[in-house]
Amino acid sequence: MSEATTPRVAVVTGAARGIGAATALRLAADGYAVAVLDLDAEACAGTVAAIEERGGRALAVAVDVSDGDSVTAAVAAVEQLGAPVVLVNNAGITRDNLLFKMNENEWDSVLDVHLRGAFLMSRACQQHMVAARFGRIVNLSSTAALGNRGQANYSAAKAGMQGLTKTLAIELGQFGITANAVAPGFIVTEMTAKTAERVGMSFEDFQAAAAKTPVRRVGRPEDIAQAVSFFAREEAGFVTGQVLYVAGGPRG
Ligand code: NAP
Repeated sequence: MSEATTPRVAVVTGAARGIGAATALRLAADGYAVAVLDLDAEACAGTVAAIEERGGRALAVAVDVSDGDSVTAAVAAVEQLGAPVVLVNNAGITRDNLLFKMNENEWDSVLDVHLRGAFLMSRACQQHMVAARFGRIVNLSSTAALGNRGQANYSAAKAGMQGLTKTLAIELGQFGITANAVAPGFIVTEMTAKTAERVGMSFEDFQAAAAKTPVRRVGRPEDIAQAVSFFAREEAGFVTGQVLYVAGGPRG
């Protein structure tokens, strides 16, 4: 990153815990001031404190990424820290069910948080990036984009994230803005802990089954933060519209 006295600002959604929290910490270590966004601002306190303990700058901001007014207010609040030039669309939920049992609310809520959320956040932040003639958007996809039993809604959303990413890359490249996606395999977080509960397995057994990757382990939030950090680098400006599977193998 350039040697500006004021750090550039990165926004990470769903950063109260899991992959988002690890990514916020990593971007802070990379020199960014980090806006830590999640549904509940108080839940972001741990991430903010961890960044500040390491000498970084962070701000907790409440947002429901699926709600246009909430996104507008949150991005305005981020401006206290400075104009955002990095956006990580990480907030996510699962509402798994087999197709014949999946209700419309399960379909809509997953599409709303992932896809509508990434659209709204990207649209709100790009104006600052265009003004700065610099920007980095990183979207969280998933190996589920390739299809996953019980996840018609989530798979569709995560495949959609890839199409959104490529289109953002095409439209925004002329302004010095890149857009890329990271597609994680199995990462140990509350999201996968909840899936274990749903399928009636202990989290330990579930992880052991998921660890049968070519690298013989499951992923950690830091594995994903590392990939996001690469895409967010100023030097990565010729890499755009890409999907990087971080899954311990070609597809987990
Ligand atoms: P997580 O532990 O469940 O954390 C997700 C965070 O997003 C939570 O803090 C959650 O808040 C927040 N969130 C949910 N809905 C939101 C909304 N409408 N607005 C703002 N924030 C919202 O999940 P994770 O495992 O770290 O996953 C992070 C991202 O990586 C997700 O996009 C996920 O789909 C993707 N991913 C994860 C894995 C994996 O194996 N873990 C694999 C592939 C992709 P609440 O707690 O209040 O709901």
